Amino acid sequence: MILYAAGTALSDAYTAATMRHCDTLIAPRWCVPIEPPDSVLTDHAVVVTDGRIADLLPLSEALQKYQPSVSIERPDHILTPGFVNTHTHAAMTLMRGLADDMPLEPWLREGIWPTEQRWLSAEMVRDGTELAIAEMLAGGTTCFSDQYFFPEIVAETAVDRHMRAMVGTPVIDFPTAWADDISEYLNKATDLVHDPYADHPLIATCFAPHSTSALSDESFVDLRILADQLDVRVQIHLHETTAEIAAALQETGKRPFERLNELGLVNASLLSVHCVHMTQVEVACMAESGVNIAHCPRSNLKLASGIAPVADYLSAGINVAIGTDGAASNNVLDMLSEMRTAALLAKAVSHDAAAISASEALKMATINGAAALGLAHETGSIEVGKWADLACTDLNRLNSQPVYDPVSQLVYTARADQVSDVWVAGKHQLDKGSLVHIDSESLLARVDEWRGRMAAATN
Ligand SMILES: [Zn+2]
Repeated sequence: MILYAAGTALSDAYTAATMRHCDTLIAPRWCVPIEPPDSVLTDHAVVVTDGRIADLLPLSEALQKYQPSVSIERPDHILTPGFVNTHTHAAMTLMRGLADDMPLEPWLREGIWPTEQRWLSAEMVRDGTELAIAEMLAGGTTCFSDQYFFPEIVAETAVDRHMRAMVGTPVIDFPTAWADDISEYLNKATDLVHDPYADHPLIATCFAPHSTSALSDESFVDLRILADQLDVRVQIHLHETTAEIAAALQETGKRPFERLNELGLVNASLLSVHCVHMTQVEVACMAESGVNIAHCPRSNLKLASGIAPVADYLSAGINVAIGTDGAASNNVLDMLSEMRTAALLAKAVSHDAAAISASEALKMATINGAAALGLAHETGSIEVGKWADLACTDLNRLNSQPVYDPVSQLVYTARADQVSDVWVAGKHQLDKGSLVHIDSESLLARVDEWRGRMAAATN
């Protein structure tokens, strides 16, 4: 409420009377809306009402026009869309550091799968997902695309913690603690995830077959028919390692991409994770089909899978987004370090220092990610009408000063702990570096209990 002192000019009173109410007014030093491209605004404000971006305008005009319930000034900060992590296995955050320095196959067979066999449960997924969400929020991520068992618990936890998510339902031909056979995987996915969350403001859903080796042709056809009926996307690990391709050739006579194409799954609804080893013909086919790529550079480095030539993919016109993969193979869900790694690696492998600029890397981590998940109309840029999914990062730190170009400083210097504020659908989730709606102490205590149990399983 504004109180008017005696003698206030009539014009001021008139202005006040015509001011519009808004929930939050955010005034950063720099605002990078992503759309239009390469725009860096100063002295601007973002206005949020009912969870959505209501306006983006010069601060002086905003102060005349809006009467906010909450005003947030961040004079040393850059405001961007929240980051979109297009590929992770949130619950596996509980296995962070459990089996390091191993190649993919023994890592899975000796480290990850025995632990999952012993401990995979709804409770493990709930606690692991909460830990992942807490870490991602604290580092500026406002949306993640997940692929793990008990996806209904992933969805529940994301809603509980008010985090945007694309929940991938697992599909494989062998039994796990979640389902026994292909029909149970598909039925549970539909009944527990796709149908209940069809119109949810925070949750989108997709099918997440693990890889081509995990499904028969018949299972892929059933999956494709159901995905088309439900109008949901498909997320799959593809061409992560040369060993995966060699094994597929030996078993089926076809490369995984070729088989997927023949089965009718190569299209604009496909989120293809990794794509480290692709032929030129496959790249042209991906571009023509509108396939989206989730590039996970740090996981590819850590598991020695190789380096995806993403500058070539972007030049071919493919939508390339960024994912962290799970914390068991990264080991952090930190989109700032992921986009930095993506930019640096692209320069090195293409022998071109101009390949993937800071601005391109930020696009990959925001609007490209939203587009890859089919959410570009809802998030990924600061535009009127979209959800207010926002990240604010403090550049007034020794390692980020001086600031000649705020986007360069964000991508090449900022650490996750410089993210000060995060909003998901307008809800203030991180306030000056503190998580508002997650009890970190209780979460850490539960995580430590899991550490004890899981360490015993691998010994
Ligand atoms: Zn993965």
